[in-house]
Amino acid sequence: MGKNWGGRTPDAGRMVRSTVIHGIAASEGCAIGRVFEVEERRTDRREKSALTPEEELARLDRAVEDLSADLAAAGEDARRTAGEAQAEIFQVHAMLLREESFLGEARERIKAGETAEHAALAAGERLARMFETLDDDYMKARAADFRDIAAGVADCLTGGGGETVPEGPVILAADELTPNQLLKLSHGRILALVTRRGSAMSHASILARSLGIPAVAGAAELPRGGEEAVVDGTAGLVIWSPTAAEKADYGGQIARQAEEKVRRAAFRDKPGRTADGRRIETACNIAAPEEVSAVLEQGGEGIGLFRSEFLFIGRTDPPSEEEQEAAYSSVLRAMGGKRVVIRTLDIGADKQVPYFNGKEEENPALGERAIRFALSHEEVFRTQLRALLRASAAGQMAVMFPLIVSENEVRRARALLEEEREALRREKVPMAERIEVGIMIETPAAALLSGRLAELVDFFSIGTNDLTQYTLAVDRGNQRVAGLYDTAHPAVVGLIRRTVENAHAHGIWVGICGESASDRRLLETYAALGVDELSVSPAQTARVKEALAGLDSRRCRILDHV
Ligand code: PEP
Ligand code: MG
Repeated sequence: MGKNWGGRTPDAGRMVRSTVIHGIAASEGCAIGRVFEVEERRTDRREKSALTPEEELARLDRAVEDLSADLAAAGEDARRTAGEAQAEIFQVHAMLLREESFLGEARERIKAGETAEHAALAAGERLARMFETLDDDYMKARAADFRDIAAGVADCLTGGGGETVPEGPVILAADELTPNQLLKLSHGRILALVTRRGSAMSHASILARSLGIPAVAGAAELPRGGEEAVVDGTAGLVIWSPTAAEKADYGGQIARQAEEKVRRAAFRDKPGRTADGRRIETACNIAAPEEVSAVLEQGGEGIGLFRSEFLFIGRTDPPSEEEQEAAYSSVLRAMGGKRVVIRTLDIGADKQVPYFNGKEEENPALGERAIRFALSHEEVFRTQLRALLRASAAGQMAVMFPLIVSENEVRRARALLEEEREALRREKVPMAERIEVGIMIETPAAALLSGRLAELVDFFSIGTNDLTQYTLAVDRGNQRVAGLYDTAHPAVVGLIRRTVENAHAHGIWVGICGESASDRRLLETYAALGVDELSVSPAQTARVKEALAGLDSRRCRILDHV
């Protein structure tokens, strides 16, 4: 993420240079316009209080109530302007505001003599820093949520925080933008968004994607207010003071983008299908309930992978059965009868959960992760299974188990599911008549055993991210060996072929939910193999459907494989 000098064109007899800043592609699309700088929120609040701790505690309680009311109003606003799932972002904030890890620490600090605003900001900052150390991108992005909540409490206490809404269409430039700010500011017209902090998983980025606003996060520098800039949210770059040639180039791209949008919109409501009529369901991957709106807006035919671990990571204690049930059923309800495949807890390896207090492992990617963790922490697993079963009445749910390497694991996981189902039935808890049960094929062992495993489940979902890592012995997160990480490797394609053949021989469906499901190079291979479902990120859905519609599966070539 550096800065370099961009194009040079002769302009009015002199050389004019633009500046190119690289960042993270957070929401696709391009825009040209004037920059509006969003003022940084003031965080230097008085530390020592002149009031008694009791008085400060009462101020904190009042501010929490005021912010709760503000968040409820913002949620209503979001529901009207952006949709049901965006409104959930504000519900999440309202929930985090009541988190004991946040309020408990703020109260302790007040008792030690701090002002309520200083205590809230310090507690928020500590939690934000903790989240920033996590490996999971979604969880890292929750740091901004805690900063936002803490600043919101401080604003309620000091009367700050009002945003100036820009007039006319502008590019917003901010150090960090909260979803609340973005929503308020979007009452003016926003062409694009550039932030210095944040990532593609920040709530502001998620919201920008669903509002269709191009965005670049993590920019090394920000263009100044009043300047002209180009934002390329697809490539993740910002150009200040673009040259005439760059403007003409991007003008052309913006026009093509508009045409593409119209063309893709035609695929949004169509089922995924190849030109010769082979049906390939095009579903989406999500990590949190608030991503459902993007799934629906982009034409996802279902959810092929809901990574449920997001509920567990980066907190101080595990979510209760009720909390989990609420999250699962909100997704099922929002999807309105379309299939939602929920993967059971996949923690361990790069997704550590400190409160489970496991001993540090020397090689966590080969350690007690995913289904192994679930089977050795039965109570945690049973609680999740009960929450899933209770939520199953809200829609069409399927459950799948991650990182399977043996038949025994599948039998044990299914037996626990059955035991919990029986117990809930005795309690007369309403549940779906039938829940499909599947497994992820993400180890060479599972692919090689797929003929036997197919007898135990209703479907397979191939996790090519891990299947590639474990087949090629290449750490998926290690930049030094990134050149060896190849989802099109003949050994990986061979294992996928074997899995698809075994699934079909046993009459079960098979999908692919790793990142390669939207890889243009591999679509022909997947179509030719007869994969039944592809589960991709919401933003890729229409593009994948369009690409499938251009393929004749009878003529598709399967890439080199064993
Ligand atoms: C995979 O391994 O391909 C997968 C989809 O799971 P995750 O990326 O969450 O490990
Ligand atoms: Mg995986």
